[in-house]
Amino acid sequence: MSPVEHRPHYLPKRILVTGGAGFIGSHLCERLVREGHDVVCLDNFFTGSKLNIEHLLDSSHFELIDHDVTEPISLEVNEIYNLASPASPIHYQRDPVRTTRTCVQGAINMLDLAHATGAKILQASTSEVYGDPQVHPQPESYWGHANPIGVRSCYDEGKRCAETLFFDYHRQYGTRIKVARIFNTYGPRMHPDDGRVVSNFIVQALTNHPITLYGDGQQIRAFCYVDDMVEGLVRLMHAPDEFTGPVNLGNPQGLSILELAERVIALTGSDSTIIRHPLPQDDPQQREPNISLANTVLQWQPSVALEMGLQQAVDYFRSKLC
Ligand code: NAD
Ligand code: UDP
Repeated sequence: MSPVEHRPHYLPKRILVTGGAGFIGSHLCERLVREGHDVVCLDNFFTGSKLNIEHLLDSSHFELIDHDVTEPISLEVNEIYNLASPASPIHYQRDPVRTTRTCVQGAINMLDLAHATGAKILQASTSEVYGDPQVHPQPESYWGHANPIGVRSCYDEGKRCAETLFFDYHRQYGTRIKVARIFNTYGPRMHPDDGRVVSNFIVQALTNHPITLYGDGQQIRAFCYVDDMVEGLVRLMHAPDEFTGPVNLGNPQGLSILELAERVIALTGSDSTIIRHPLPQDDPQQREPNISLANTVLQWQPSVALEMGLQQAVDYFRSKLC
C-alpha cells in the first residue's frame, strides 16, 4: 500500500461512536465534535460513564443514545466507530457470555447498519486477537496463539469473530470496513477501578497503597497515550476504501510491568511498596506491536512519550481522588 495524504476532512458528517461514553470513545467523540461533525454517542453504560461526556452534552453537534449494541438500531449515519465492549479483564470476565454477545451480536448489528446506510465502519479490535503471542513484535500477518476455552476467550474469541464478520460483510456485501488492532492504551478517563495496570498502579501510588504486581513483573506491554490512539483511529477511517486493515495501533516501545511500577512510584513520589500477586490465567507474556503498516499507510506513530502521558494520567487521577 502506498502512503496516503492526511488532510483534515472538513465536510461535516454524522458519525456514530458506539461505546462513546467509555475511555477511548469519549476522547474520540470530543475530537470529532471539535472537527465540526455531528456525533451520535451510543452506550449502555456497562463500563462507561456520563461523566466522561458531560462536557459534550450541551453541544448541538452531540447526541447521546442509551442503547445496547446487541439490540438492532436504525439511524442515518455516514461513519461508524464500533467501540462498544468492555476492555479490561475484570470487566469482560464479569459476565463472559454477555461479553461474547456484545462483541459478536454488536458487530452484526453495526455491520447491518453500515450495510443499510452505506456508512463506512471501523472496528475497535484488539491485540488480544494474538492471544499469548509467540512472535515478537506482532505483525498483522501473525495469526496468533489464543486459548479458545480460557477465561480470556470471551473477549479474545469474541473480538476474533467480530473481525471475521467484518471481513465476511466486506467480501459478501461490499461493506466498507476498517479494522484497528488496538494495543494497551492509557490516559485520563480510564476507570479507576477497572483493574487495568496503569490505572491500578497510579491510584495505588497516589493513595500510598501497595502496588499489586502480578507474577514476577517480567511480562512485557507497550502503552500508547489515548490522544495518539484517537489520531490513529481517525486516520484509519480516512484512509482509502481499499485499505481495510487489520492494522496494529499501539506504542512499539515495550517495557516490563515491574519497570512500569517503578516509574509510577518515581513519578508520583509515592511511599508505596510493591507486593506480588499470582499471575492471572493466560496472561500474555510479551505483547508489543509491529506498527510498520500503520507507519507506511497512515504515516502514524505515537508521539507522546510514556513519561509525559503518565504525568497526564497521574494529574487526572489526582484530581479525581481529591
Ligand atoms: P471502556 O470500557 O472504557 O469503554 C467501552 C464502552 O463500551 C463503555 O462506555 C461501555 O459502557 C460500552 N459498552 C459495553 N458494552 C456495551 C453494549 N453492549 N452496548 C453499548 N455499549 C456498551 O473501554 P475502552 O478502553 O475505552 O475500550 C474501547 C474499545 O477499544 C473496546 O472495544 C476495546 O475492546 C478496545 N480496546 C481497548 C484497549 C485499551 O487498552 N483501552 C485495547 C484494545 C482494544
Ligand atoms: N497487572 C499487574 N498488576 C495489576 C494489574 C495488571 O501486574 O494491578 C499486569 C497484568 O497481569 C498484565 C499487565 O499488567 O500482565 C497488563 O494488564 P492489563 O489488565 O492492564 O491489560 P492486558 O494487557 O493484560 O489486557
